[in-house]
Amino acid sequence: MRVNGREGLACVTKIGDATEVVVEPLANLPIVSDLVVEMDPFYGDFEQAGRALVRASEAIPDGAPAEGVDVLTRYEDCIECGICVSACPVAGSDARYLGPAALAAAWRTYSEPRQASAAAALRFADGEHGIWRCHVAYECTEACPSNVDPAGSIMRLRRVAVAARLRRFFGGGRDGR
Ligand code: SF4
Repeated sequence: MRVNGREGLACVTKIGDATEVVVEPLANLPIVSDLVVEMDPFYGDFEQAGRALVRASEAIPDGAPAEGVDVLTRYEDCIECGICVSACPVAGSDARYLGPAALAAAWRTYSEPRQASAAAALRFADGEHGIWRCHVAYECTEACPSNVDPAGSIMRLRRVAVAARLRRFFGGGRDGR
């Protein structure tokens, strides 16, 4: 949520000696009620980004997925808090913008696809409402509490997207990688 105008994890945001605390829901996501925002579209973009699998060695040795979850399929490091989307100046002006978290997940899939498709992840990101829509404000990277660096991922995706286009134009190389 946003605390005194800044995105943060409510569970660890210190308010110090503040006598007045303003708590608001995340921006750029539809409000369900009070501080609750609709996260379904946000999670849906992760699906399309090809969500890289969590390495088996990183799972709790004897642990099991929660009831109703078939497998562990989440993107490492990203805790899916939505803070980057709230902090992003573009997400507020383009409802179809894929947003920093999904694009960071696409970069993760591209760079280490495991069972997913690197080319599909790049196609997902390389569109009108994807990596080219970013204004390079780096607000997402600044706000991310988990050091994912979404803006850096977007810049890396731009470089590989341009390289892929040049390869297609001049011939040679595989599409998407
Ligand atoms: S990239 Fe960072 S800010 Fe965005 S959802 Fe993931 S952990 Fe949260």
